[in-house]
Order: sequence, then structure tokens, then C-alpha cells
Amino acid sequence: MKKLMAANWKMYKTRAEAEQTAKELVRLVGSLPEDREVLVFPPFTSIDVVTSVFEGHAGFFVGGQDFYTEQEGAFTGEIAPSMLVDCGARYGLAGHSERRHVLGETDVFVGDKTAFGLASGLKVVLCVGELLEERKADKVQEVLSRQIRAGLKGVPHDVDPASLAVAYEPVWAIGTGEVAGSDEIKDAHAICRNELIELFGDKGNDIRILYGGSVKPDNCSGIISLDNVDGVLVGGASLQGESFSKIVLA
Ligand code: PEP
Repeated sequence: MKKLMAANWKMYKTRAEAEQTAKELVRLVGSLPEDREVLVFPPFTSIDVVTSVFEGHAGFFVGGQDFYTEQEGAFTGEIAPSMLVDCGARYGLAGHSERRHVLGETDVFVGDKTAFGLASGLKVVLCVGELLEERKADKVQEVLSRQIRAGLKGVPHDVDPASLAVAYEPVWAIGTGEVAGSDEIKDAHAICRNELIELFGDKGNDIRILYGGSVKPDNCSGIISLDNVDGVLVGGASLQGESFSKIVLA
């Protein structure tokens, strides 16, 4: 299974800046190791420019940070999976903690989105993760099980495992500089893996589980060598080609 090294650029970068960072990333990564894939989630407005930069570079993919649960209609401000595909995106992100906790997305809506994105031909990265108070209250297992079951509720049992990934992102580690410890990561990823096996049988072993939360060039190689860590999802440290290229090659 190739490690998926994913960048979430959130609401940063003009088109010119996105193009420059993508070019720098491709240049600094050089020939991508066989066991790695790169995925960048730029703002919607830069999906096409990053797609153009990645053209001809095997293993480099682009995704949309969000999408809606309809193909078209009177949904002002929303974007359909097919529109992302039309701009060059092959992946979509569902349930990022900022959408859950800043924009109020529910487990059910995130689940509808994941199922609809997959049915529309996108590969989907479903984000899950507990709040600090939930960790302190010993509720990590409960929260992850709930979010994974609801998030994957409408996904068919015979799903292609390559079309789905789960990103474990403890909310208290996102953008805080406070990375989760090795045991915390291993335990949480084991919970995710067990849920995936319960839902999809043996295929659950082939669904990638990414870690996200203050991944940096100097902590990435330790994290991706842990059991059940099949890649990373990186926010802050993915904004510069220099630091993200080091993460990709870690
Ligand atoms: C993220 O945005 O998904 C994320 C993990 O951010 P950061 O790497 O900055 O913690």
C-alpha cells in the first residue's frame, strides 16, 4: 500500500501563490519514491492551476476540501463532486474538524457527503478525531467509532478500498503544534482499523488511515513508521513547498 502524503491548504493562497508552491513542491520532491503518493487540497479557486502543474507527474493528485450532496441545483455557494472532477480533482475531503466544529457539520451530513462523493466518482478522505475534553473523558474509542460508523454508513460493502481513506486528526493537535504521542496515534489508528474491518471485512485492511495534527518535517518519519499509519494529512507545514517536500520524502 502506498503512503498517501496529503496537504490541506485550507483558505490560503491566491492562484499565483498556489501555482508557485505546487511547482516548488514538484521540483523539490523530484522523482517520487514508488511507495508514496502526493495529494494536495488547494482552495477551490486553485484546483485547476495545481492540476496543470501536476500534469505528467505520476503519483501527484489534487482534491477538493469540501463538496455538497447533490450534483446540481439551487444550493448557493456549494460545489458538486462532478464540478471538482471537471476542474481536475480526483479526491474530496469530508468531515474536516474545521467543518464539523466551525461550520457545524453533523456526523449524518458528513456520512451523506462521503457516500455521495464516492458514488460520484471521487475518492474520499473522511476525517475523524476527538476533542480534548473527549480524550480527557476517556471517550476516544466512542467518538471514533461513532464518527466512522456514521461517516461510512452509506458506503457499499464492496467499496474499492483504494477509493477511501480515513484521516485520524485529534482536534487538539490541529494547528496547535501539539502532536499526538506515538501510543496515542497507534491506539487511535488501531481503533479505526478495527472499525474498518468490522464494516468491510478483509478489505478494511487495505483502506488507508492517515494521521493529521501538527505533522512537521522533523516528526513525520517517526509517525509514518507506526503501525496502521498509511500516510499523513498536513495543514500548516504543507503551505511551503520546502517543508512539505521534506514531509513527502520523510
Ligand atoms: C489539518 O488541517 O488537517 C491539519 C492537520 O493541520 P496542521 O497540520 O496545521 O495541524
